[in-house]
Amino acid sequence: MRLVLLGPPGAGKGTQSARLKEKYHVPQLSTGDMLRAAVKAATPAGLEAKAIMDKGALVPDETVVGIIADCIAAPDAKAGFILDGFPRTVRQAEALAKMLAAKNLDLDAVIELKVDEAALLARIAKRVNDTLACGGTVRADDTPEAFKTRLAAYNAETAPVAAFYAKKSVLKTVDGMALVDAVTEAIDQVLDGAVRTVRLG
Ligand code: ADP
Repeated sequence: MRLVLLGPPGAGKGTQSARLKEKYHVPQLSTGDMLRAAVKAATPAGLEAKAIMDKGALVPDETVVGIIADCIAAPDAKAGFILDGFPRTVRQAEALAKMLAAKNLDLDAVIELKVDEAALLARIAKRVNDTLACGGTVRADDTPEAFKTRLAAYNAETAPVAAFYAKKSVLKTVDGMALVDAVTEAIDQVLDGAVRTVRLG
């Protein structure tokens, strides 16, 4: 199963990807998590990315494409993967298409989680409060200003990625406003259809 999850920050990509990973036994490749790990480990890529991420802007395509190319080539991704947070620009989507074509592979589906912007702001505020209540550390880009920048980056750079996949007829849209379990169910239904189509086709 090779999947991409698309959606604005706070749409629930991480939550749904983690569930899909359990169901399909394929790795969840989250560029956000990988970049945060690189920042923590103070690798050259992490040091370069930190200020950009803190602002809520996108790190350069080359950086994330390099990271994802390594992950896709790794043995644990042989049976597939769930991409969470990548591709975020049309250039990244094109780079992914090239990587897969070189291995004679294709995506089974691209799932877009649709959520309205007012709900996103409320979700992020809740995530911050819940984290603080548990004594956790809040992400540097979960401030209102950085969140605005992340949303603007999504609308400018990532919304066209959905159009890119719609043109290729692999885009499936799911209502991300529903309860978490209902979203999972909707994704399951979409994937049942997608996998059957691929097998028949
Ligand atoms: P969210 O989806 O909640 O905004 P992520 O954890 O996916 O959060 O990403 C956090 C940050 O990491 C982004 O705002 C961006 O700076 C960086 N990032 C993650 N993935 C990419 C990507 N594919 N291209 C560019 N920057 C990325």
